[in-house]
Amino acid sequence: MIKTEGIVLNEIRYKETSKILNIYTKELGKVTVMAQGAFRPKSSLMASTQSFTLSEFYLKKGRNFYYINNSDVLDSYYSIRENMERMIYGFYILELIEKSTPFEEENERIFLLLKKGLKILSELDRDFLKFVAAYEVKFISFLGYRPYLNRCVNCNKEIKSDMKFSSINGGLLCEECYSIDLSAKSVDSLFVKGLNDLLYSSLDSLDDVNIFNTTLKSIHDVLLNYILLNIERKEFKSLNILNSIGEF
Ligand SMILES: [Zn+2]
Repeated sequence: MIKTEGIVLNEIRYKETSKILNIYTKELGKVTVMAQGAFRPKSSLMASTQSFTLSEFYLKKGRNFYYINNSDVLDSYYSIRENMERMIYGFYILELIEKSTPFEEENERIFLLLKKGLKILSELDRDFLKFVAAYEVKFISFLGYRPYLNRCVNCNKEIKSDMKFSSINGGLLCEECYSIDLSAKSVDSLFVKGLNDLLYSSLDSLDDVNIFNTTLKSIHDVLLNYILLNIERKEFKSLNILNSIGEF
């Protein structure tokens, strides 16, 4: 029996009354869990098996799944569901983890980032893009792909004027190195400063970070491309919803 905090990433119904969940846990990383009888009236698992919910789980390992023996809800982050933007960005940060982390590989920094991210998102009323961009750059850094922003990632020279961001190489390219990645995207010094500020500011002090909206959009676009390339995916379904309602 393993006792661990965990956050439900997604849930699908299984047979009449059960659910299969992906949970990101503090002790085990991402695990697939069978919640037997979660749909039964008065089931004690009803609350703890909903997406976003943080609980203390008592898990038992079976052949194909973990099984929930017991659970105590710590925070449902319910207010994420009360606002459209919170909910879409919330599903996005769940999807980020779901699609980019291997099963049963513990990463406490990722767990704590998710937990803090949901807490802050549940109270957020504005500056959603700034929050998301900060979350993205921290997330990809904690996965081991922190972008190289101080010098040219290829020749290590200091960059004085024009530069591009290369997703393939994971950082900035100076003008002389443009030819090593023709898909690199032109960026400017505001982009680099903004990205550094987002990377090194805590998620709960983003009010102190000032970035123009056009720069934020460009940071988000570059990070999204960089993340998708590194995790070998084409898209995030949760962001398609935003595109379809014209928020991006
Ligand atoms: Zn260079």
